[in-house]
Amino acid sequence: MKIADKNTKAVELVRDALDKAKKFEAYHCFISMNEARALERAREIDKKIAKGEPVGRLAGVPFALKDNYLSRDGNTTAAARMLEDFAAPITATAVKRLEAEGAIVIGRTNLDAFAHGGSTENSYFGVTHNSADMERVSGGSSGGSAVAVALGIVPFALGSDTGGSIRQPASFNGVYGVKPTYGAVSRYGVVAMASSTDTMGCFATTAEDADLIMKIMAGKDEKDSTTLDDYWTKDLDEITPKKKKIGLITDFMGEGVDKEVVSIVKDYAKKLEKVGFEIEEVKLPIAKYALAIYYIVQPAEVASNLSRYDGIRYGHRAAEFDDLAGLYNNTRDEGFMTENKRRIMIGNFVLSSGFYDAYYLKAQKARTLLINGYNELLEKYDALLCPVAPNPAFKIGENTSDPLKMYLEDVMTVPTSLTGMPSVSVPAGKTKAGLPVGVQLIGQRRDDQLLLSIAKTVEEQA
Ligand code: GLN
Repeated sequence: MKIADKNTKAVELVRDALDKAKKFEAYHCFISMNEARALERAREIDKKIAKGEPVGRLAGVPFALKDNYLSRDGNTTAAARMLEDFAAPITATAVKRLEAEGAIVIGRTNLDAFAHGGSTENSYFGVTHNSADMERVSGGSSGGSAVAVALGIVPFALGSDTGGSIRQPASFNGVYGVKPTYGAVSRYGVVAMASSTDTMGCFATTAEDADLIMKIMAGKDEKDSTTLDDYWTKDLDEITPKKKKIGLITDFMGEGVDKEVVSIVKDYAKKLEKVGFEIEEVKLPIAKYALAIYYIVQPAEVASNLSRYDGIRYGHRAAEFDDLAGLYNNTRDEGFMTENKRRIMIGNFVLSSGFYDAYYLKAQKARTLLINGYNELLEKYDALLCPVAPNPAFKIGENTSDPLKMYLEDVMTVPTSLTGMPSVSVPAGKTKAGLPVGVQLIGQRRDDQLLLSIAKTVEEQA
């Protein structure tokens, strides 16, 4: 990552990123650009450097913001008509911390509306294309951010991961994607999806860069009571795995998983062996229920979080309505995408009296069993290894008519989200057709840096 100093001008770094964004416009990574303000900030940083004043660890580094992070730079749309004209009155804590270190937002990236999806096809503003193949999806929901980093437009970009939205697009585009421990990074100022699994993380091209970005964003924030203490404090080189053992989750390596994906994961396991880890195959039978648990818990929380969009306080308001109920109905009908509505309906159903015990409560109990299953394994292993998704990037339109098929894409990422554990999507190889494939390293809560240090060792030594 190039950082501005006496020899490298912040203005040049930002201009270069803006030029590349234009060059790659056809991929549709961005919903809006932040050109004037980005250049103005770069000039300020260059002036400070010339005067010998301190400028921070990310001086002049351009980055891209998933368009569900609130900031004063342009509208935060969450890729939905509902928020098309929404100018946020606050800036997300994560963004503030990066800006305080000199990083500069050049634009806001595309996503599935309200982060509901795994392909960035659910955006009100159109689809984002895969960096390796224009006919394929970028993955999602943070598709725009993943592609912006993969194309080299920016050295890093922010995403949010509720059930895989950072890890899966990272895998589909061959970049690092960090989904931190729940509570590592403040959720303040990010459009809420499912509050008990929402995590804020980043895309980058090396483990070291990803670590620096996360280190800056992480830590206690009085505006988000779920944030953890500041544990993200070490250098990756200071970390030594205690057990030198990694468990390969075989439940995710069998039927229904693309053969090339399986072989790329196995190759990565060999690399781990080469750098001194013992690999053992492990079983996690409860994992097969994770998708069912997730698609009850998550819509329930989505339904609650999206109830605030009523056309009264902010966001879209229907132009035509007869009475108050009509105002709500028409506003929500026009402002939400089909997938948003589907989740609101499922969520309200599983929370409704008579069904609450059978669905929501049962799902929460099963969630505890899932957490116990992961805890048991992570007593024996430093980390767990598995694919990120059952397949490489699929074709645009391939899964859109079948929501269940689309949800199956999340089968390997949602378990970790439900446990609150960290997971890093590490670029690991390409299929014969040239499609990137990543692997997932999963760890115990607060072991985020251990995962990145393992990835770094493989990156540099295997
Ligand atoms: N694809 C998953 C879903 O649709 C994950 C979304 C996310 O992490 N924001 O729920």
